[in-house]
Amino acid sequence: MALTEVLIDQATRDNLGEQLAEVAGSLWAHHCQTCGKPLGDVPPALLVNDIGRFAFAALHHPTCKQARWNNRDVIWFNWHAFSTWTAFTSVMPFRYGDKIEQWPMFLLNPSLEAIALKRDDERRTWHPRFDTRFFTAGMAPPGGRFSRHIPLPGVKAVLSHDSITVRVQADFVDEYQIEAHLDVLERADDLQGVYFVVTHALNPARFTVEEFLAMMKAGRMLIGWASIG
Ligand SMILES: [Zn+2]
Repeated sequence: MALTEVLIDQATRDNLGEQLAEVAGSLWAHHCQTCGKPLGDVPPALLVNDIGRFAFAALHHPTCKQARWNNRDVIWFNWHAFSTWTAFTSVMPFRYGDKIEQWPMFLLNPSLEAIALKRDDERRTWHPRFDTRFFTAGMAPPGGRFSRHIPLPGVKAVLSHDSITVRVQADFVDEYQIEAHLDVLERADDLQGVYFVVTHALNPARFTVEEFLAMMKAGRMLIGWASIG
């Protein structure tokens, strides 16, 4: 979300500094993280629960939670209880060696309204961070070596006649299933897998190819090959 679309208090602005835009840009207003109801058109309140080296930023109705940086009376709660995941499948052009190939992609934003932050003690800054389970499953930012010949050890894809399911195996199994067009399903069947991309920086329900490429270049996604299995 753009900074102007979110209610943010001064302490949060001070603590996040230059990272504020990236944190706000990793949050999407769908459901209130207090009551679980749709956030609607009223600007949501950004509440950050700071527990030391980590913090959890989430969107709430301003009537449910005040916009603030909370490091005093943090109550531990299941911060995934009301968060929404969204996914999108497509055939996307990827560079492979010196060729451009059309590869099937499964793009996932695992929690639209909430994100974990990690403190960089040296620079005294906070950065959005991906859930550990995606690293446990073998995912890494683009730029490293990723190839469909190196399948992720902890992620599998399952095809049906009209959908793709991705299973992420870490401490427990998470399943994400969405409908897919025939061209994606056929390409996934040909290659026996899909590129699995996880990001908080895009809303998979609406984004442009330019935004996707910009976020890929900025390293704000994790990627890997999910083989069928
Ligand atoms: Zn609410």
